[in-house]
Amino acid sequence: MDSKEKKTAVWICQGCDVGKSLDLEALEKLATDEGEADLCQSHPCLCGDDGVEAIKQEIGRGANSLVIAACSPRFNTDTFTFDGCLTTRVDLRELVVWSHPANDEDTQMLAEDYLRMGLARAKKAQVPEPYQTEVDKTILVVGGGTSGMTAALEAAKAGYDVVLVEKEPQLGGRLRDFGRLFPKKPPYREPQPTDIEARVAEIEQQERITVYLGAAIEQINGQPGQFKVSVQVDGTSTECQAGAVIQATGWKPYDASKLGHLGSGLANVISNVEMEKLTAAGKITRPSDGKPARRIVFIQCAGSRDEDHLPYCSAVCCRVTLKQALWARELDGDTEAYVLYKDIRAPGQYEDFYRRAQEDPGIFFTKGEVVKVEETGDGSLLVDVEDTLIDKLIQVEADLVVLATGMVPVAADSEAIRQFRDAQAVIEKGEAGAQLEAAKVTVEELKRHEGTDILHLGYRQGPDLPALKYDFPDSHFICFPYETRRTGIYAAGCVRAPNDTDVCREDAAGAALKAIQCVELASRGLTVHPRWEDASYPDFALQRCTQCKRCTEECPFGTLNEDEKGTPELNVTRCRRCGICMGACPERIISFKDYSVEIVSSMIKAVEVPDEFEEKPRLLGLLCENDAYPALDMAGLNRIQHSAWIRFIPVRCLGAVNVVWIADALSKGFDGVLLVGCKSGDDYQCHYIRGSELMGTRGDNIREKLNALALEEERVRVEQLSISEYRKLPQLINEFAEEIEEIGMNPFKGF
Ligand code: SF4
Ligand code: SF4
Repeated sequence: MDSKEKKTAVWICQGCDVGKSLDLEALEKLATDEGEADLCQSHPCLCGDDGVEAIKQEIGRGANSLVIAACSPRFNTDTFTFDGCLTTRVDLRELVVWSHPANDEDTQMLAEDYLRMGLARAKKAQVPEPYQTEVDKTILVVGGGTSGMTAALEAAKAGYDVVLVEKEPQLGGRLRDFGRLFPKKPPYREPQPTDIEARVAEIEQQERITVYLGAAIEQINGQPGQFKVSVQVDGTSTECQAGAVIQATGWKPYDASKLGHLGSGLANVISNVEMEKLTAAGKITRPSDGKPARRIVFIQCAGSRDEDHLPYCSAVCCRVTLKQALWARELDGDTEAYVLYKDIRAPGQYEDFYRRAQEDPGIFFTKGEVVKVEETGDGSLLVDVEDTLIDKLIQVEADLVVLATGMVPVAADSEAIRQFRDAQAVIEKGEAGAQLEAAKVTVEELKRHEGTDILHLGYRQGPDLPALKYDFPDSHFICFPYETRRTGIYAAGCVRAPNDTDVCREDAAGAALKAIQCVELASRGLTVHPRWEDASYPDFALQRCTQCKRCTEECPFGTLNEDEKGTPELNVTRCRRCGICMGACPERIISFKDYSVEIVSSMIKAVEVPDEFEEKPRLLGLLCENDAYPALDMAGLNRIQHSAWIRFIPVRCLGAVNVVWIADALSKGFDGVLLVGCKSGDDYQCHYIRGSELMGTRGDNIREKLNALALEEERVRVEQLSISEYRKLPQLINEFAEEIEEIGMNPFKGF
């Protein structure tokens, strides 16, 4: 639909204080005269049945571009979405009348500017058309342990074909080494038998599941809905197709050999994984001489919650110790179990399980720090503990020490692997020292990742899932559970976070649902979370591409491959429609049908900037639609007032801000630009992983523009906040407005 074919109808809602706070006649006149809309009407309650019916009638008369000037676009979204029509929302409620004084000249100017911006967007934007392509809905599950088997079963029961790839010759994973599971039902005191054989039998009976045992992924190419998978089974390659992938490759125990200070290496010091095998075998003996072990010391957090080892808590080790101590007592009533802990973590109903162990007269709990573990001569051990409850050093004699080691994900970090390969190349050239030092990596650190590739992705950005700080390839545990930084590839179970089997099963069901959502949305040409069901996708005008590679490097989801010259190759179903590539592209050749550099520029230019003599500064606010814009909405809902000098435009992500918008605003005469995005860093909340961070790194570019225009750097400010900080946002806006007033008017006004 080009602008000539557009018939634009503007509707202004009088409800929710809008009608009594603004001069609606003036707004209507602006829409039809200055904005050249074909029609503008106001309605007492636009979201009601009458209002919607009136809009539909107008659509019936040919209107295909609707400007709805009413509440925030976050409300009544479905109500104001009509097939085949472009809807532009102008927020007169939260951003204008609920956050500014009624019937005030500046409030009216604000409403008029928002309407101008909406009309500008309505002129340029197009209705996105879904990207239609052939989609295979098979789900590939990598890993046949608890999580992998559950994900496969859940997907199959939901009616999807599944290919399950397991590297071992049998299904079951680590659960095969477990004798018992934690209690699962009230009164939460009795451990349960494992149900592994029943699960395996269920898989075998499921016609929809194809299982490859003793198999590994050789290569995965393509994109969601169209993954081409090569599986190696017994030395031969088998090809299959998949629409989405679930990685459930589980965990491995932390390397106990690093815990020399806790006695690791001594004959009768074992890990909790080894203890599980002993208990399951029904006899707990000392490895040194096979004599019964009747004094067993469990050292909790062995290498966990420790900055020198695993800084995190593995969530299950305390309960594993409770289970093993009770079991050891059950096997031999003369056994004494000593549990040395920092804290006992038994969440939820497991408090009852902990209580049961406390009630056992042969289990003793001591809170403290283990100072040393040494042999006494006959293979017995002496454990020195700084008891932090009585503030005294105590000694415990033991036949066997069990180190409650934590869980490490069986995952690969493509970035680390890339570094590893680069380092290897450097070492081969004999230049290791200086370059590795410069890269701040050690060969030992990098060697951890040697040979750990799992998915073998044919992605320009690397062969595996990028990982978070502790090598878990999750994307964000609160906002996007099960998601990874590769669209259509989900993580389930202990590869995502340390978990018990129940949580792993929940995880697996969640990941299976995400995988199903992905293939279903891909089949309709729509994107996945967080821009759920968005039909738009980036279009690259490649004839003007300079192969600068910024888009491929900055895309957080590995959407873009490159040809040999460095020209980006788009894989549409990998794309999450964040717009970061659009923000990055210096040539401004990437655009979406309903969101582009040109559309936002036209909105900025539509604002009426008063001349310097009117002493009414104008500020531009670019707010991330994920946290910052909703925070402003919340502030409006709470009737918190903010400066009337500022005009806001929501952006898909702060990383989607093209620096040219800032230049446009300042050249137009805006006095300052405020950019607000989600939090970055280790605990990032950015919905597109690195968007806020990228805006920070584009700061140099912004400074360059300001210097070129001979403007003060303070005129552009970048802030980060979360949605819960909505009370802070109006304060921040007001402070920025005051600061800009102090700096003075932009000398470009009136040009
Ligand atoms: S819109 Fe986002 S996910 Fe899609 S290609 Fe651009 S940067 Fe990548
Ligand atoms: S950022 Fe723009 S110019 Fe650079 S490679 Fe990507 S599309 Fe081409």
